Amino acid sequence: MNIITPEKTDKQFLEKIEKESGQNLTACNQCGKCTAGCPIAGFFDIMPHEVMRSLQWGLKDDLLNSHFIWLCVNCMACRERCPREISVSEVADALRREAVKEGVKPAEPDVATFHKNFMGVITMNGRLHEVMLTALQNVFTFKPFKDAMLGVGLFLKGRLKLLPGRIKDAGFLKLISGRLKKN
Ligand code: SF4
Ligand code: SF4
Repeated sequence: MNIITPEKTDKQFLEKIEKESGQNLTACNQCGKCTAGCPIAGFFDIMPHEVMRSLQWGLKDDLLNSHFIWLCVNCMACRERCPREISVSEVADALRREAVKEGVKPAEPDVATFHKNFMGVITMNGRLHEVMLTALQNVFTFKPFKDAMLGVGLFLKGRLKLLPGRIKDAGFLKLISGRLKKN
């Protein structure tokens, strides 16, 4: 059981995440529709409606250390169902950014590594290159041969390019890189 004590609550945290996510967090009435409609709620340690309540209580540590912030796939199903038009997805993004900023050890290290690698590949090329992303992911998660046979199969069918393509417009690439660095 999670016992809430004054030491565990951070009142300013609600305001901060409200600003970062652009969502009206106090408007949540705990109807639970976000959780009911979330396709992956079964994998979360904190359900979407509980995330909202935890924010209202200022349970910063619980949220920043949660698996939820790394597992939410931003599908927006919660936003579609919410009668208060709250996007839990934007909240998850804001919490994840905050966790990274505060140097909190990710509850899902492989997902955190994937985020970093994904951003790195896009920053470098301006577009995704699956081979580079998979190679980086395998190296940094110490699983060098993960999905290797799948990759070979896709390559033989002409579905994967070995060398990355780069967008030509240097100004646009700089713009993308700048925006991604903020995330
Ligand atoms: S955006 Fe995240 S919390 Fe919302 S329904 Fe999708 S996975 Fe669940
Ligand atoms: S659907 Fe909206 S109002 Fe209902 S619990 Fe989820 S965030 Fe709160």
